[in-house]
Amino acid sequence: MATEYAGGRRPVRQECELMRLYDLSRPIYEGMPVWREKPEKAPVFTVTSDFVDGQGMHETRVALDVHTGTHVDAPLHALPGGKGAEAYPLEQLIGEAEVLDLKDVSGAITATRLKQETIAAGQIVLLKTRNSSDEAWHDDFVYLAEDGARYLAEKEIAGVGIDALGIERDQPGHPTHKILLGKGIVIIEGLLFGDVSAGTYGIVVAPLRLIGCDAAPARVLLVQKNP
Ligand SMILES: [Zn+2]
Repeated sequence: MATEYAGGRRPVRQECELMRLYDLSRPIYEGMPVWREKPEKAPVFTVTSDFVDGQGMHETRVALDVHTGTHVDAPLHALPGGKGAEAYPLEQLIGEAEVLDLKDVSGAITATRLKQETIAAGQIVLLKTRNSSDEAWHDDFVYLAEDGARYLAEKEIAGVGIDALGIERDQPGHPTHKILLGKGIVIIEGLLFGDVSAGTYGIVVAPLRLIGCDAAPARVLLVQKNP
């Protein structure tokens, strides 16, 4: 089954008088972009029951890598014996987000660049980069450098998110993952920012309640009060 996703692939924005909602989650469908375009990473939808003459029920089974689309990485992903994604407390996943506009960066986001930004302890820091302008896979995506991760860890943030399917690339030993996850900082990968601008927002990160996994697909919502 290769169903084309019917909705828009840009983030959904809903508005009312008191607040504006942004959905930063990627839609999940067969043929969506996956890590390094590896076929074994691609989701597979199988219809296990269908209507016959209008009777019965329609049912679907989905085979999904836990790092599909928008997801959180758990300590277990990079640290032997680390905890699964269920271990993040909700208090860490719901709170204040700071969206940084880093579209000027190509390659690595360094500590030097991050020092130009205002970041407060306890925030979930969201890195909006030029990755956002294209949803297809690119080997040379913008990533968080080891010294950038160390700087954010020193700032005692609650989490960090990026608009690539990985938060780092081409760094032997995966130091960015190890520094962040070693400090208990939640990593969110695969965000879609669309027209979200830099600034402070409320955030809800809601990973599936999978037990003992190194990652979990997540719905990520931003709330802007009094838009
Ligand atoms: Zn991941």
